[in-house]
Amino acid sequence: MAESLKQQRQTKKTEGSLDPDKQGKESAASDQNAEVGGRGVLIFVTCPHCGSSRIISFDYEGEWFTCSQCQGTYQVAS
Ligand SMILES: [Zn+2]
Repeated sequence: MAESLKQQRQTKKTEGSLDPDKQGKESAASDQNAEVGGRGVLIFVTCPHCGSSRIISFDYEGEWFTCSQCQGTYQVAS
């Protein structure tokens, strides 16, 4: 676990149409064995829909995620 690489960011609900190519990977932050994968930075976020703690592999601005708990879509607030 590379704790130093983890950051915390604010999230917001997505608006408008979403580009399927920009969907990122996420998982529950409570899953200690979470294998988010990807090349991006691991970031702790809170789902803006259900409030659950998530961890995302954030690669670029505009990437969006689907909460596996509530199926709501969200993105990192800039
Ligand atoms: Zn959620």
